[in-house]
Amino acid sequence: MTPGRPVPPPLGKPLVVSDETGEASLPTPAPAPSKPASASGMPTLAAAYGATSAGSGLVPLTVARRAPKEDDVEIEIDFCGLCHSDVHATRGEWGEQNYPLVPGHEIVGRVRSVGSAVDDFAPGDLVGVGCLVDSCRECDSCLEGVEQYCERGNVGTYGAKDPRNGGAITQGGYSTSVVVDRRFVLRVPEGLEPAAAAPLLCAGITTYSPLRYFDVEEGDVVGVVGLGGLGHMAVKIAKAMGAQVVVFTTSEAKVEAAIELGADDVVLSKDPAAMEAANRTIDVIIDTVAAPHDLNPYLRTLRLNGALFQLGLPPTDMPPVSPGTLIRRRLSYAGSLIGGIAETQEMLDFCAEHGVVSDVEVVTARQLNEAYDRMVAGDVKYRFVLDTKTLQPASEKADV
Ligand SMILES: [Zn+2]
Ligand SMILES: [Zn+2]
Repeated sequence: MTPGRPVPPPLGKPLVVSDETGEASLPTPAPAPSKPASASGMPTLAAAYGATSAGSGLVPLTVARRAPKEDDVEIEIDFCGLCHSDVHATRGEWGEQNYPLVPGHEIVGRVRSVGSAVDDFAPGDLVGVGCLVDSCRECDSCLEGVEQYCERGNVGTYGAKDPRNGGAITQGGYSTSVVVDRRFVLRVPEGLEPAAAAPLLCAGITTYSPLRYFDVEEGDVVGVVGLGGLGHMAVKIAKAMGAQVVVFTTSEAKVEAAIELGADDVVLSKDPAAMEAANRTIDVIIDTVAAPHDLNPYLRTLRLNGALFQLGLPPTDMPPVSPGTLIRRRLSYAGSLIGGIAETQEMLDFCAEHGVVSDVEVVTARQLNEAYDRMVAGDVKYRFVLDTKTLQPASEKADV
């Protein structure tokens, strides 16, 4: 580890928020565990929460999960993280969606049953599913193990057409179960607290992958722009890699929080003098801000051969990057998208070894809509996670 501030222990125990609806604070009874779908060869009806239109908010739904095929793993979901992408997708902010839509791609649970050809997972195993459930498996990206960059388009965990399953639209993890091909199932080390590990499957790998790609090691200085779900994981993972971490924030209120997470330094990005003082001090910047913003002041904090990875996808154009700054310091301006399956497994093992998990606030199904509003307002430290035991029992008939 680098000299300087010691890394505080991760807040592995989730905070359970009381239900503010005034109803019983205990969740509705957990749905009775259904029989392994593989036993019957029929689809299983799973309880879920999802959107029926762009304006519906999240409502109770019932999803038909396919009977596991020979390579499939049937997972009883325990927790699912709430990602900003879920809000955009369910509200139709990223274009046309197929409704009803059950979001969720930060899934942790236990194997309920496996198909006849699965010998690497067994019932009871603690497993995870991230943003991908399939890809073409044949293109150069897939053969290289970077399935997220599949040239024919990866199959997302929700809202995506699933060619190997008759073109059905995938449905995500705000649900009591899911069936996924074994190639896209991750092993979650038992040392990781399941609720706090769930956000590693998207927020964790999205920040781990560019840090690994840049080969961050002890003594490097990593800048993190934005301190939300992604940013707080970037701080923890970069510290665990041995880097010094500098957080850039527009908010004075976040200075203390950044230090608590383990940051060695905080720069108020609205203060030109502070930004000037940071000139040529950083090796690599992980920019997690999804709103349009000017990158040039950040690029000027990079040293020779530095790089800025942009992870947030702004809805509109950003101010142009100055070629002069790039040229005069041989800087790289790059993007990065989640991670492949092998790298996601590597990240989970790394996090278990270093005791890295997300800071989470566990919510019930009835709190999901309020949680979405709080996410949009930036009022969460740092990730909401749905406890799927609070989903109402599945109905007799599937909605989707
Ligand atoms: Zn996500
Ligand atoms: Zn491919």
